[in-house]
Amino acid sequence: MGTQAPLHVQHKKLDWFYAPCFTAFWIVLYMAVVLQQVNHLPTPLTLQDEFTQPDSFITERAENVLLNLTNLGPRVVGSEANEVEAVTLILDQVFKVQNEMNQDYFDIEVDLQVVSGQYMHTSLYHGVQNILAKLSAKNNTSTNYLLINSHFDSTPKSPGASDDGAMVAVMLEILRVMANSKGPLEHPIVFLFNGAEEDGLLASYGFTTQHKWAKNCKVIINLDAAGSGGREILFQSISESSWLMNYYSKVTHPFANAVLEELFQFGLVPSATDFRNFRDYGGMQGFDMAYIQNGYVYHTEFDSFKVYPKASLQNTGDNVLSLAKSLGNAPEMRNINNYGNMEHFIFFDFLGWFMVHYTMNTNLIVNILVCVAALIAIVISLCWISKRADLSLLAIVAQFMLTTFIQTLSLALGAAFSILISYVMDVIGCSMTWFSNNWLICGLYFCPVFFFLGILPAGFLEYTKKYALPLGLRIQLFLHSHCLILIVLTISLTFLNIRSAFMFMVAVFFYAAALIGNLITQLHNKGSWFAIPVIVSQIVPFLYFSYVAEYLYFIFIPVTGRNGGASNPDLLIALIAVIFAILLSGFLIPLYLLFRRTRSIILCSLGVAILFMILAIRPIGTPYTPKLAPQRYTVQHANQLYHNADGSIRSNESAIYLYQQDRHIDIAEEVIVKFKAAHETSTVCNNEATCQLDRPSIFYTPNSLWLPVNEPPGIPYERPVLTLTAKTIMNTPNTVRYNYTLTGPDHMMFFIEPKTSAKIINWSFDKTILSRKELVFTFVHGKNNDAFEFFIDLECHSNNTNTQSLEIV
Ligand SMILES: [Zn+2]
Repeated sequence: MGTQAPLHVQHKKLDWFYAPCFTAFWIVLYMAVVLQQVNHLPTPLTLQDEFTQPDSFITERAENVLLNLTNLGPRVVGSEANEVEAVTLILDQVFKVQNEMNQDYFDIEVDLQVVSGQYMHTSLYHGVQNILAKLSAKNNTSTNYLLINSHFDSTPKSPGASDDGAMVAVMLEILRVMANSKGPLEHPIVFLFNGAEEDGLLASYGFTTQHKWAKNCKVIINLDAAGSGGREILFQSISESSWLMNYYSKVTHPFANAVLEELFQFGLVPSATDFRNFRDYGGMQGFDMAYIQNGYVYHTEFDSFKVYPKASLQNTGDNVLSLAKSLGNAPEMRNINNYGNMEHFIFFDFLGWFMVHYTMNTNLIVNILVCVAALIAIVISLCWISKRADLSLLAIVAQFMLTTFIQTLSLALGAAFSILISYVMDVIGCSMTWFSNNWLICGLYFCPVFFFLGILPAGFLEYTKKYALPLGLRIQLFLHSHCLILIVLTISLTFLNIRSAFMFMVAVFFYAAALIGNLITQLHNKGSWFAIPVIVSQIVPFLYFSYVAEYLYFIFIPVTGRNGGASNPDLLIALIAVIFAILLSGFLIPLYLLFRRTRSIILCSLGVAILFMILAIRPIGTPYTPKLAPQRYTVQHANQLYHNADGSIRSNESAIYLYQQDRHIDIAEEVIVKFKAAHETSTVCNNEATCQLDRPSIFYTPNSLWLPVNEPPGIPYERPVLTLTAKTIMNTPNTVRYNYTLTGPDHMMFFIEPKTSAKIINWSFDKTILSRKELVFTFVHGKNNDAFEFFIDLECHSNNTNTQSLEIV
């Protein structure tokens, strides 16, 4: 032990100027590796490349299809563009493949399904369309199919390039490549181009519940979008055993994370995909993938061909082609059942380089083993420290507990301060300052956590300068404390059945590795040398956590622009920052205590936080950028007309109706102020049944703006007409059957309410919801706009025949 420094002597601190170099190292690592990998896309292949790579996905072909599809303009269900032009375009492409394909080996069966029904009790759909192409080998005997789905309809105004035209184009190119190949293909592949997704997943439901091939479809690859291009992420997967993940692991550009699946299940992402129908009603296992980058343009007119990055086609094309080939020949497909024992998995990619996946049982074992190993290493380290310092183990444990208390307090204060800022920003009307300039988040919400993680330990070390432990050992106690906190989090989340616990386990794992390395090499005992294994061990988790944080932000930042104004969007952004600041920097910030002028260095992070707060409230923090990050709100020229039972008009008013989609009603308000009049909420509404609903409906959205105008809207299509076609006295006492027909535009909503004296006892809709108080139906028609007919059997106990017994709005 002769080489050790004598105790009670402080180790020399490193010069302060190493601190900025240390910081720069991590920033460079983030910019050079993480930003590169998050945005990495493959080189798109052109028609020239087809000669050298005949079995590859050719982006140029898919690009042409996408251009033609988006040239049709918005493809809303019921419109000519969707029901005729898009259907013709896609069918033409399929027939072209059929004519040019390898006819010695393959068959393509084409079907156009026009389907009607009821979905989720109150969604009525009529004549929506699905285009189907089944690719199979001529000698095929397999009855188990792979299904690949995308939708060709779009939201009003949107050309739907990324959502979901690009996926349609990808599927057509995959169909072409596969049909021109020499095989093999053991299991048929059904390509489903569905024509009604945006109105609530109607067409995929129609396929799953009514098409003759649906029960043979065992595995689904669902392709959709919540952004414009980038890499498509695998964000939901369910299967019997891990066989599906084994195949996904072999794709060229893996991008996946089970954390997203969990966030999606918790409802933090306000959308749903067709995957739900295939899984819940078709019992299929499979993959749900979507574009998530540039969510600002999602469902807007800016989701255009021009904005969509074409290299994304290559990325998705390579991945889905690889999956189609491998699943189409997978031995596991031979014995597979719908509604088998489905499992969730832990899965994630590392920087797009490779996949990691394991079962939930393994997850439990791994989380516990890693935590136990880390705990043992910490205990051994404490014993060594006690021996080295010639202090009792109890004294060291007491010191460790104190350190853990300070570390916990630092984390809590950092988190609280960050969250406090999110409230302040909201209260002063400056929420969403990072909406366009995302980098503001770093100063606003990360730096406060960094500051508290540094300043309290620094103060404590200064205060206990004279304490018998050398600086290096006391810093190691802080690192151990942080590890202990992460162990507690890992174990708690694991037992709460939260799959994302694995993220904390990863942090524990890499620190435990450094600690074990230090114990073996005895570097923990040599001044500042313990820092080397710690720094090396932090490179992988730093890359991983900043990579995940990066794409969680590019998912959630645009989401705050469209999930209503009810909650403070800064809070969500601050919470993500707190979690990732803890994961990213918890083992790095204590290392700053090795540098001279520690407190000045740590104060810099507070300085950055303050600077960014000032910037945020200046013009630089204006949330929106025209076209790139636009504000969303809905403006409708509306007319509400109430009739009495005798057909006379009870009230008739027109208005400009505006409701916000984000926190900034104040900015949306400027739009309505341009109409040079005050706004208010309709008072007619207060007395009418439609406004008593719990759910927000038209004219009843909180904080909506309502500007009465004299002019009724010029409606370019037929108005809805509800006609009572028959009134029949039934055999059951006091019961009358009312038959109605409804005609009108492709999208209608109606509301049915029996008055107190009456009761609906039967009708043509779903009978399981007869007892519900709110009966709001949506009605969508696709190709088929015949009159919609329905009946209601009403039991009436009032003798007064003039009493109103039923209201239909
Ligand atoms: Zn979509």
